[in-house]
Amino acid sequence: MIVVLKPELKPADIQKVVERIESFGLRAHISEGKERTIIGAIGDERLLADQSLESFPGVEKVLPILKPYKLVSREFQKHNTVIEVAGREIGGRKIHVMAGPCSVESRDQVLESALPVKEAGATFLRGGAFKPRTSPYSFQGLGEEGLDYLANARKVTGLPIITEVLDPRDLDVVARYTDVLQIGARNMQNFKLLTEVGRLKMPVMLKRGLSATIQEFLLSAEYIAAEGNRKIILCERGIRTYETETRNTLDISAVPVLKQLSHLPVFIDPSHGTGRWDMVAPMALAGVAAGADGLLIEVHSNPETALSDGPQSLKPKKFAALMGELKKVAAAVGREL
Ligand code: PEP
Ligand code: MN
Repeated sequence: MIVVLKPELKPADIQKVVERIESFGLRAHISEGKERTIIGAIGDERLLADQSLESFPGVEKVLPILKPYKLVSREFQKHNTVIEVAGREIGGRKIHVMAGPCSVESRDQVLESALPVKEAGATFLRGGAFKPRTSPYSFQGLGEEGLDYLANARKVTGLPIITEVLDPRDLDVVARYTDVLQIGARNMQNFKLLTEVGRLKMPVMLKRGLSATIQEFLLSAEYIAAEGNRKIILCERGIRTYETETRNTLDISAVPVLKQLSHLPVFIDPSHGTGRWDMVAPMALAGVAAGADGLLIEVHSNPETALSDGPQSLKPKKFAALMGELKKVAAAVGREL
């Protein structure tokens, strides 16, 4: 439930309300708005029984959150969440493009993407060092060696890094290298991983599961938020349907739907969403037109030899051309790139 506090309450009085909430075995999540502070009282609300919080000093009113996800819901927080990473704001007016290879393959290969995407206006470098491959015989990623190549590319380009963490046991090492953690589609319901990432309190991009409903997607985000980490970016990356012309069916409507239901920033991944490089540009443009806060795009200097996802990777030149088109669409919808 949402506990709305009286205006201009002193920190010590807010703390008393927090302690009261916690005395019922619930967790208190404070959200400071412009005018007043609200507290999300999260947990098994039956523990409160009929002991009303409404009469507690400092409390103005108590409202239920009707949706099953609480902290990530628009009911809990009306304004958009803006996440600060390395001096950049995600979820504000500016649209962020995170670009780079699917997999980190070598020190030079990362730079061959990192330098041109930076030049074209990307604001983050992506690249997988721990890869979630469908086949155990496919390239599984370079692990920590790959993270080191990403760190080198960050040093050279100044671009912050986003990279995937596959396993809670790798979390410490990945967190040491990256600016944003990526939780992949196949791990969207790895609840142990979600909980551990929630405890770290660093920015995380959560990708929608291959067959996840929007409600399941937001409940997974809630796992992270419930541990105290609300720096969550949601990423629509296509879902499994009966259609086979594209690798997945990119659910563009997920953007306005998620924006309505949640205050978290929403990204589109047109690379995994289509599986085809020639479909990446139109879907990227559509994503921004639909209100996405950013894009995740695979770029490879030589897609024909890529160790993963070559068919959906843009060459740097095509990526630069797309950035030019995106600028126009962003301006048309009141955003900037
Ligand atoms: C990726 O970003 O390279 C990736 C594996 O994405 P997804 O988890 O969406 O398949
Ligand atoms: Mn990929």
